[in-house]
Amino acid sequence: MIIDIITIFPNMFKPVLGESIIKRAQNKGLVKINIYDLRDYSGNIHKKIDSPAFGGGPGMVLRPEPVFKAIESILGESLYPHKKKNSKKNIVFFTPQGKILVQKDIKRFLKYQRLVLLAARYEGIDERIRKYAIDEEVSIGDYVLSGGELPAMVFVDALVRIIPGVVSSRESVLRESFENNLLDYPHYTKPREFRGLKVPDVLLSGDHKKIKEWRKIRAYEITKLKRPDLIEKKRKQT
Ligand code: SAM
Repeated sequence: MIIDIITIFPNMFKPVLGESIIKRAQNKGLVKINIYDLRDYSGNIHKKIDSPAFGGGPGMVLRPEPVFKAIESILGESLYPHKKKNSKKNIVFFTPQGKILVQKDIKRFLKYQRLVLLAARYEGIDERIRKYAIDEEVSIGDYVLSGGELPAMVFVDALVRIIPGVVSSRESVLRESFENNLLDYPHYTKPREFRGLKVPDVLLSGDHKKIKEWRKIRAYEITKLKRPDLIEKKRKQT
């Protein structure tokens, strides 16, 4: 998979994308992440990519030309008026107006060979970008951040870790929170007793059938307590 990120703050991405699982995934050749500075497509010597909003009001708006030019140069294809929907590519814009990201969507994005992510700033983007360049709008929650860089990083992290081969134990990805609309079960590690607090006996029993059953019940209880909405979804599924 190729992930192209368009931003005016390319340096924000380097520390996050250059560490841990995402770094390993790139080194293994399972994902290629390219960062593009939107200012390189400004078309003016001042590298200006924003302008005040027509009609007045506070804040600046990202202009359409640099964003169209950046995407067209990355994909080697024209957008409006000749855009063809390519089922292998998707152009994603991060915005509080987008659909709130859930694990099911993250899995859905796995089907694309190429994703172009647009991280905006200021008041947002010229509406013509939204209408004629963007395929999907994604929000990471009902709050307003200063820019789309953190949402883009959240998205990339969640996506890259489920690319087959990225996390060595496939099982650990498959049984995590939200799989089957359940949250994860509780985990314990050494020591067996910490300040008088003991690890549940069943986990030390070596009886894998019992352990599996215990984890299933705990996952259900935790979900019921913390996210009853997921239990409701699960019920509707069955
Ligand atoms: N004026 C916009 C509004 O009220 O919807 C908010 C603009 S915000 C200050 C600047 C940029 O941050 C947005 O264009 C978007 O790219 C990004 N952003 C902010 N909050 C976000 C969220 N919850 N999810 C995804 N992107 C977000």
